[in-house]
Amino acid sequence: MRNRVNILGIRFDNLDARDALSWCERSLNEKKKGYIVTPNAEFVYACRQNETSRTLINNAALVTPDGIGVVYAGKILGTPVKGRVPGCDLAESLAASMAKSGHTLYLLGAKPGVAEKAAENMKVKHPGLKIVGTHDGYFKDAEPVLEDIRRTAPDVVFVCLGFPKQEQFMADHLQTLPCTLMLGLGGSLDVFAGVVNRAPEIYQKLGMEWFYRLCQEPKRIKRMAKLPLFLLIAVKERLLHGKSRQEDPQ
Ligand code: UDP
Repeated sequence: MRNRVNILGIRFDNLDARDALSWCERSLNEKKKGYIVTPNAEFVYACRQNETSRTLINNAALVTPDGIGVVYAGKILGTPVKGRVPGCDLAESLAASMAKSGHTLYLLGAKPGVAEKAAENMKVKHPGLKIVGTHDGYFKDAEPVLEDIRRTAPDVVFVCLGFPKQEQFMADHLQTLPCTLMLGLGGSLDVFAGVVNRAPEIYQKLGMEWFYRLCQEPKRIKRMAKLPLFLLIAVKERLLHGKSRQEDPQ
């Protein structure tokens, strides 16, 4: 039975980074198919107005909170999540684990050349990691991409097309592709390729990663401006409905 916490309509699995990695390793060993999503406050906010996106997220086999905004919302609602599980960190620890287990990986997404560079860097960082293919995320026709994934038959695909394109891609294709797990990881390939710098640990510990990211990419201001609104909605929900409505021991 999944222990899930409902935060403004999104049902998050209540686990920390270590549990999330164990879950992935178990699924890989048991060949249990599923797709994983790591929503941040911006996704949750968007899902309030869009039922299709909400269903895509809630149908995932694992839903982990990527951003500090979701963690704060959980606290405000009186149903705290166990911890923040950034998609980038989960991808990194899973890659390290796959380098040992021999499971194979495919990288999909980002601008042309980025996935290849990310693959190069990841293979240096995790000796033994088998990356069997890469493809950029700016394709018009999905068929050649699907054919490449079928041909290379990876165990895991990192799908980095941004929300909600990556969630739609995973939901549409997981069952017909030979992979076991698909992870929707937003801009992670940009980080692995060194195109974008991850916030230093001190920012991550202080819950200020969003601020570092904003300084690096000021055009994100419009997207990030939704964070205070998102927290206000959480406050309003708590005042109107109290704690019980948010609990979801499904
Ligand atoms: N992207 C893509 N195809 C698209 C649109 C976006 O491959 O059609 C990539 C984009 O290049 C970037 C990632 O998807 O690498 C989205 O990154 P973003 O920072 O928006 O995601 P976040 O990490 O905030 O979820």
